[in-house]
This record gives sequence, structure tokens and C-alpha cells, in this order.
Amino acid sequence: MATSDWLTGIYLTTSEVLKYPDYVERLRDEIGLNTVVMSFSGELPERVLAKSPYGGRVPTEAELGELVLRHFDGRPVDPREYDRAQALCGPGVSATGNDETFRQAVGQLKDAGLKVWTYGGAWTIRRLMFCPSRVDVREWMEAVCVHWATQYELDALDITHFRYPMGSFPLGLFGCTCSACAATAGEMGYDMDAMIADLKSARKGLQNLDGKRLSEVVRLGFGFFDVMHALGLRSGVLDWVRFRCDLVVRNLAQFKAAVRRAAPDTAFGTDTYPASMALTAGHDYLRWGEMADFASPLVSHISAFVCNTFIEWAQFLQEEIPDLTEEDALQLVYRFLGYDGMGLPETVAAYGADEPATLAYRIPTADLVLRDLVKAKLYLPADMPSYPIIHGEGWGRDTIDRIVSESRRLGHNGIVWQGTSELMDYEFK
Ligand SMILES: [Zn+2]
Repeated sequence: MATSDWLTGIYLTTSEVLKYPDYVERLRDEIGLNTVVMSFSGELPERVLAKSPYGGRVPTEAELGELVLRHFDGRPVDPREYDRAQALCGPGVSATGNDETFRQAVGQLKDAGLKVWTYGGAWTIRRLMFCPSRVDVREWMEAVCVHWATQYELDALDITHFRYPMGSFPLGLFGCTCSACAATAGEMGYDMDAMIADLKSARKGLQNLDGKRLSEVVRLGFGFFDVMHALGLRSGVLDWVRFRCDLVVRNLAQFKAAVRRAAPDTAFGTDTYPASMALTAGHDYLRWGEMADFASPLVSHISAFVCNTFIEWAQFLQEEIPDLTEEDALQLVYRFLGYDGMGLPETVAAYGADEPATLAYRIPTADLVLRDLVKAKLYLPADMPSYPIIHGEGWGRDTIDRIVSESRRLGHNGIVWQGTSELMDYEFK
């Protein structure tokens, strides 16, 4: 691929763009920046707002409880996220936008010769997810995507959080099982009750394991059939993973088609969960072409997405299985999730979870990120453009350089940066 086709992007907010106009110009001249992914901070017109499941007002906690993901034990999500959901005008869109400043920022970037993408949040806010089966939520998101694609002369939508909650919130793996999702499961050929029964049976299988013997096996190594064998895994568990992926594909394919009809020149994509754990978030790389024009593997969140998942799952296993040590629980998780053999920490304390900003210096960050970028190219359709999202600060220059050069070798098509202090000196005054 010619260097000119290489996408160099950065995530910025509208206010950053307006406050530091020379920042992107210098990035353009010094590192070849050609694209800015700017958070949507405009307003929505009445005809779009009329479709909001919020009905034009701030929803009560009881009303939100009806709109959001429900766990298979009947609990709604953690209400701690409700205040964030209540600050929106509908799933994924802030109620405090200003169209004039958003348009001004888009115009300023275009004048600087840059492409402009936007991202809006969508289905998930940390633990909270709006139910993916509800027709009102889907019609709303479609109307919002079409508005974004048609009103601001944007080059692409790179919608964020179109997925199930991240693996570091284990309860998120077991939703949504609400009545709308049960009905959708039936329409798609799945049986919600059978899936829930098989999930519960797998958990029983886990609890029946002898922790000491399991530790011995973990140190020797285990494979796909061992997992199936040990848990007495039944087909409903696989169906559960597939059902969630099918729902995400159906929803995103609907939005992509609507955007294509309304704005044929605006690309549609969504940030893409790290490949090793993508299926846990409902992201199926093999089918990415059905629901997006490009992939943007979000491999920058090494703390929230990846390491916190290791820690949470290891602690969950220790709770479920007596006599399983923390060290063995971590090794089990590494192997099960496909991150073994790279020298990840042997104890939870070694992660220093209270200092996420320096985490990259305590773990083999380049190996971790590249493992997911190698897998991404195995799974993504061969012609699918792919723009990994990585950190340009807090990771160290050697790590960054290795990830970028390997990304080129692997056939990815650019990098979208989060932070640039390792790439260019710039003082934000
Ligand atoms: Zn649901």
C-alpha cells in the first residue's frame, strides 16, 4: 500500500479542535495526519428527537430499567450508570449539544485538508447496555446515524460502543435476556430458555471441578476439548455467543444500509473489540463486511478491556472453584482467552491496577496488542480496511514503533491515535 493511502487519524473532541487549531495542522505536517475522528457534539432536529425512546424527557430509573439489558438472573444493570444514561436525549447521544460549534469545528478541519469522521456512543455505557432487540431503540439509532451521515459533510461514521458490555464486567456476558430478546431469539432460531439452562449447567460444571487437580492441568496445558469436557459444555452456550453476535450484525447491518441509502459517499464503521475476546462482546470479525465498511480494532484499552478482564475472571474462578490459587487462575484465564505464553503478570498485584496510566510499562504491551492485530487479519474479510486504534502516549516510543511497523507488515491500513505526546511535542495551553 502506498504511503498516501495510509490513514493517520486521531480522536479529538470538538472543543479541542476549536481551542487548538494549530495542533492538527502540526500533526498533519509532522506525522502525516489526514483524518480526525471527532466526537459528535451537535444537536438533533425535532423529527429525529421524536424517535427517541426517552419520549422527549429525562427517563426515570424505572423507565430506564425497561430499556436496558437484563441479566439472566432477572437483574437489570447496575444503576450506577443510570445518571450517565439520563444525561442523554436518547441512547448514545448527549442532550447538551451545540450544532453551531460542531459545524464550525468540521469546517475548520476540512479547511486544513483533513477528513472528518464522527463517533457517537451507542448501545453500551460501561455496564449499561440498551437492549439490542427493542425496535424503538433500533429505529432511534438508525435515524441518528442517518442524521449524522447526511447533515455535516462527514467522510465516515465510526460509531462507538455498538457491542455488549466489556468482559471486565462479567455480568454483562449474561444479558440481555429480556422478553424482547427472548422473542428475537425465537425468530432467529434460538431458544432463550434452553440457552439459559445450558449457561447455568456450565456454571455448575465449573463449580464441580477440583481446584488442585485443575491447577495441575493448567500448568501442563489444555485445549478446546478440555474446556468442553470439563464444563460438560452443552450447545446452548455456543448458541448464546452466536445469538448475541447475530443481534449485533442485524442491528449494524440495518444502520449501515440506511446510511448507504441516504449518504452513499459516507462510510459506516464501528470500533471493533479486540479479536481474542471479540465474541464475548458480540463482535464477529468474520461477518464484519455485513455490518461495516471498515474495521477499527480498539486495541488501546489494555486496562479496561483486557487486563481488568483477566483480573475479574481470575477472581470469579477462585470464587467458583475451591483450592484454585490466584496464580493458577490467572494462567487459566490467559490460556482460555488466548493470551498465554507472552509473560503476563503472575499475580493480580503485579498489574498495579490502581495505576492504569503506567500499566503499559508493567506488561508486554506490544506483544499483547499485536496478538490481537494478527488475529484481526486472520478473521476480517480480506478486502476489509482496518485501522487499529492505539495510544501515542503512555506506551513508550519503542512499543509504539513496533506496533506501527508490524501493523503495516500485517496489512492493516492505518492507525488512529489516542494521544500524541510520544509522537510530537505540543503544549496544550
Ligand atoms: Zn433485551
